[in-house]
Amino acid sequence: MTIQWFPGHMAKANRELKENLGKIDVVIELVDARLPQASRNPMLNETAAGKPRVIAMMKTDLADPEVTKAWHAFFEERGETVVNVNAKHGKGLKDLLNTAVEVGKQTQARLIEKGVSPRAPRAMVIGVPNVGKSTLINQLINKKTANIGDTPGVTRQQQWLKVNQNLDLLDTPGILWPKFEYEDVGNKLALVKAIKEERFIAQDVALFLINILKERYPELLKDRYKLDEIPEDGVELFEAIGLKRGCLIRKGDVDFEKAAGVVLTDFRNEKLGKISLETPNDWKERLTEESEA
Ligand code: GDP
Repeated sequence: MTIQWFPGHMAKANRELKENLGKIDVVIELVDARLPQASRNPMLNETAAGKPRVIAMMKTDLADPEVTKAWHAFFEERGETVVNVNAKHGKGLKDLLNTAVEVGKQTQARLIEKGVSPRAPRAMVIGVPNVGKSTLINQLINKKTANIGDTPGVTRQQQWLKVNQNLDLLDTPGILWPKFEYEDVGNKLALVKAIKEERFIAQDVALFLINILKERYPELLKDRYKLDEIPEDGVELFEAIGLKRGCLIRKGDVDFEKAAGVVLTDFRNEKLGKISLETPNDWKERLTEESEA
């Protein structure tokens, strides 16, 4: 998949992010529980270097609970602070809040040492598009709708939102550009709508998902598409799903475009069940290589 961003846009977004980072004590880094590592952006390690960080694993209600547990342990082993959140149903918010305050106090302690008078730690929410930034901010400040926009180029006055006595939150979330140096990362981000539809080919992304489901969740596939058995070959399986769903160009010939739409919509509308698109094992080798490079 060759998806490119405009370097000018990226440079500007990066500059704004750096400016905002300068104002805060703790970063709340949102990742999608279904693709915890693929929804991170390695760039943040440089941009937010030295800034205390809490990982909020979002949308845990949609992910495979066993895999989420494994990811939680994986991040902790690597010395990261991680909290599971289900913002849609308001779960894990208190835990996130308390953790952010604790972590934010580290920066505070340094300021107090320098003689700066103490104030509530300041936090900022950062993540790729559609990870749940606005939903989380609204939940934290108990607001039903956001006047928070993701639209690039829209500048307005930033505000500090008072979450409670112990934490202030920047009202503007930091938007990370999805980064996909690996092909599977692009496909996963496309599946969870972190990338706009016009930037990828639906059939490729659907086939990618079908192959994951075939390996890891064959029973969910059988249930949803009333399949007696799962063909070995991903394309054959794609075809079988299309046939079952009546996605035909003419008698017997599957309309793959339409079948892709069915599979993607089912995944996004939670019709397939709780699915994780990656496990820590999928990343161990890559991350070891990266840290040695
Ligand atoms: P943003 O682009 O990062 O600001 O993402 P939004 O806050 O707009 O959320 C994107 C979509 O994800 C919306 O449809 C939310 O309702 C949904 N969403 C956010 N958090 C959760 C969650 O924890 N669980 C579920 N199931 N959906 C969520």
